[in-house]
Amino acid sequence: MNLIENYSLKGLNTFGIEVTAAWFGRFNNTHTLLELLTKVGRKEMMILGGGSNVLFTKDVQGVVLKNEIVGIEVVQEDSDNVYVKAGAGVVWHELVMYCVELGYQGIENLSLIPGCVGASPMQNIGAYGVELKDVFHKLEALDIETGTIREFSLAECEFGYRESVFKRKFKNQFIILNVTLKLNKKPVYNTSYGAIKDQLEAHGVKSLSVKAISNAVISIRQSKLPNPAEIGNAGSFFKNPEILMEHYSKLKVQFEQIVAYPVDETHMKLAAGWLIEQSGWKGKTFEEKYGVHKLQALVLVNYGGATGNQLYQLSQNIIDSVKAKFGVTLEREVNIY
Ligand code: FAD
Ligand code: NAP
Repeated sequence: MNLIENYSLKGLNTFGIEVTAAWFGRFNNTHTLLELLTKVGRKEMMILGGGSNVLFTKDVQGVVLKNEIVGIEVVQEDSDNVYVKAGAGVVWHELVMYCVELGYQGIENLSLIPGCVGASPMQNIGAYGVELKDVFHKLEALDIETGTIREFSLAECEFGYRESVFKRKFKNQFIILNVTLKLNKKPVYNTSYGAIKDQLEAHGVKSLSVKAISNAVISIRQSKLPNPAEIGNAGSFFKNPEILMEHYSKLKVQFEQIVAYPVDETHMKLAAGWLIEQSGWKGKTFEEKYGVHKLQALVLVNYGGATGNQLYQLSQNIIDSVKAKFGVTLEREVNIY
C-alpha cells in the first residue's frame, strides 16, 4: 500500500516514454484503493491500466495509481446468456481468451486489443465491427470525491464511437473497479469486415466458431500492427472522422479513391489512415527515433528515445496537413497527459 516517490513510468506506457510520477502506488482491491486515496489527499491523480492508450508529454506532478484488481467469474447464467464479471486490472485479451475457450460469444472480434478491462469502457473499445457496448451489461466504479461505489448501466455509460461518459461528463471522477459483460450462448457472429472474411478463407474455415473468428482477428492484427513490446506505440493515434454527406460528396469528386463507410443517412466515416497516407506521412521517420508506422499510417511510433512532446508535435503537424488537404479535422484518440 506504499506510495513510491519519483517513479519511472517508462515500462508502464506502451509508447515507452521516459517520464516520472512524483508518487506511484498499486492497488488490487477496493480497500487498498480507499487507503491510498486517503494518503493521496488532494494531489492530482491518474489511474493507469496497461498504459496502451496514453501519451505522456511531461512528468506527472501528482500520483499515478496502477489498477491491479484481478479475477474473472460467471455471475449469472440463463438459457441464452452468460454474464461474466472481470476485475478492472484483468488483461483484456486474457478475458477474451477465457470467453473464447468456453465458447461464450461476443468479444472474439476484440481479440488482442492491449490494455486492461478497466479501461475498456473509457473509449468503448472497438474493432472489426464490434464495440464493447454490444456486450456490456454493467460496471462498478468508485466515486473519487465521496469514496462510494456506484453501478453504471449500459445507458448510463453513454457510449459512443470511442467515447463514454467517463471521457466527458465524468472525466477523472470515477475509478472503474470491474465490468460485467453479457455474452451469448447461441452465437451471433459478426464477419462484416472484409479482412475477417478473407482471413477465415485463408485459414480454410468451413464453419464459423468463436475460436475461428478470434484466430482470424489475431492473425490480421499480428500481420498489420506493430507489437508494442517491439516498437513503442499506442495503436490508432486518431479517431476516424465522421463528416456530413455533402462534404463527403465533394471530397469524392476530388479524391475518387477516398475510403469511407456510411454511418447513417447524413454522415460518412472516413478512414483516417487513408487521409494521413495521402498527406504523405506513412512510413516517415524523424531523427531516427519516432514517426508514422510504415504499414499503418494511423499509428505513431517511438523507435526509442523520443519524447512525448515530439510525438505530440508530430500529431499536430499531421492534423494540420490533413486539414489543409481535405478540410477534415482529425481528433486524437490517445489520452494526452
Ligand atoms: P490506459 O492506457 O492505462 O488508460 C487509458 C485511459 O483510461 C487513461 O485516461 C486512464 O486514466 C483511464 N483508465 C484506465 N483504467 C481506468 C480505470 N480502471 N478507471 C478509470 N479510468 C481508467 N483500442 C481500441 O478501441 N480498439 C483497438 O483495436 C485497439 N487496438 C490497439 C492496438 C495496439 C497495438 C495498441 C497499442 C493499442 C490499441 N488500442 C485499441 C488502444 C488501447 O489498447 C485501448 O484503448 C485499451 O482499452 C487501453 O487500455 P489500458 O489499460 O492500456 O488503458
Ligand atoms: P482497416 O481494416 O484497414 O480499415 C480502415 C478503417 O476503415 C478502419 O479503421 C475501420 O473503421 C473502417 N472499416 C473497414 N472496414 C469497415 C466496414 N466493413 N465497415 C465499417 N468500417 C470499416 O483497419 P485497421 O486499421 O486494420 O483496423 C482494423 C480494426 O481494428 C478497426 O476496427 C480498428 O478500429 C481496430 N483497431 C483500432 C486501434 C485503436 O487503437 N483504436 C488500433 C488498431 C486496430 P473503425 O476503426 O471505425 O472500425
